[in-house]
Amino acid sequence: TPNATANHAPLEAALALPPLASTAGPVKACFVILVRNRELFALRASIRQLEDRFNHKYHYPYVFLNDEPFTDEFMRYITRFTSGNATFGVVPTEHWSYPPWIDQQKAIIARIKMGNVIYGSSESYRHMCRFNSGFFYHHPLLAEYEYYWRVEPGVDFTCDIDYDPFVYMKQRDLTYGFTISMKEIAETVPTLWETTRQFMRARPGLVDPKRNTLGWVTDQSLEAYNLCHFWSNFEIARLDFFRSEKYQAYFDYLDRAGGFFYERWGDAPVHSLAAAMFLPKEKIHWFDDIGYVHQKIENCPMDSDVNYDKCTCNPMSNFYLLMPSCTREFKALDADASLDISGLLKP
Ligand code: GDP
Ligand code: MN
Repeated sequence: TPNATANHAPLEAALALPPLASTAGPVKACFVILVRNRELFALRASIRQLEDRFNHKYHYPYVFLNDEPFTDEFMRYITRFTSGNATFGVVPTEHWSYPPWIDQQKAIIARIKMGNVIYGSSESYRHMCRFNSGFFYHHPLLAEYEYYWRVEPGVDFTCDIDYDPFVYMKQRDLTYGFTISMKEIAETVPTLWETTRQFMRARPGLVDPKRNTLGWVTDQSLEAYNLCHFWSNFEIARLDFFRSEKYQAYFDYLDRAGGFFYERWGDAPVHSLAAAMFLPKEKIHWFDDIGYVHQKIENCPMDSDVNYDKCTCNPMSNFYLLMPSCTREFKALDADASLDISGLLKP
């Protein structure tokens, strides 16, 4: 509308950028960004950093997803900053609504009871977590890609990324990459572990006793979940991991159990428990060299050979150094320390 343009006239002037080249990088990969129209400016800030730190040299494409149509204004101001092709998609209603087996009255009561937990009373947050757990990788706009890098509005990239993380992952045949790990809020996942144990009992053949990372999330007894998870607001991963029969069986099992709505299961613990069951440690990579901040929690490179002229972060404020991080435990995990789930199968 003419009004919207008038409101942003100074911005238009400030954005007189040169035309952007857009030859995509060598791997079939993209950024995937689920975002609301009102998050435009927070997202612009993140994309600008991602471009300046990395993508101005690689021009990977962007896929923007929303449960509502993007406004023209959103698309216009975002594409001023994206050096790769940008596509904008709407999430299909089936991927952002209640499945028929969910008792919506029970879901309302659960939300009221969780008023004291972060996002505990939010309905949309639950749809978001369920979408990121079970559906994003099925979106038609992602069909052509092998890897994705998840980005959120408001995150910061604090170091130059002088190499291509997608190529890094592909060359090493890596499946899942993270920057930050931590412990989940217990009140959001009261029955997630018991449901995961039931799933392993129902489908024992899906967990390879020699190729898993269960030792990161539980102990030999498999009794309890230690709440460790990869923080999924940053992920660089293979889409076919999520599209696999195993992962889909796990998601469907969780979805049937209803905890996305009756509790507040996050996509981070869901992705992480799936990685723990289905991936050996060697397929998971900690991008310790990527400077990244989400809601004041950050990863800042700590290696002795890091050139801090290329970073704006303080390595001493690395979340890795703090108690709730599980990355030290991840690093310490013995590569062959897969857990045998046969104990679960005894009556
Ligand atoms: P947090 O990281 O757990 O604090 O949750 P966020 O509010 O950052 O949400 C996670 C991601 O989902 C971000 O990329 C948000 O932009 C996006 N998101 C959250 N809720 C919605 C929603 O209702 N609609 C859309 N389109 N995106 C959402
Ligand atoms: Mn976030």
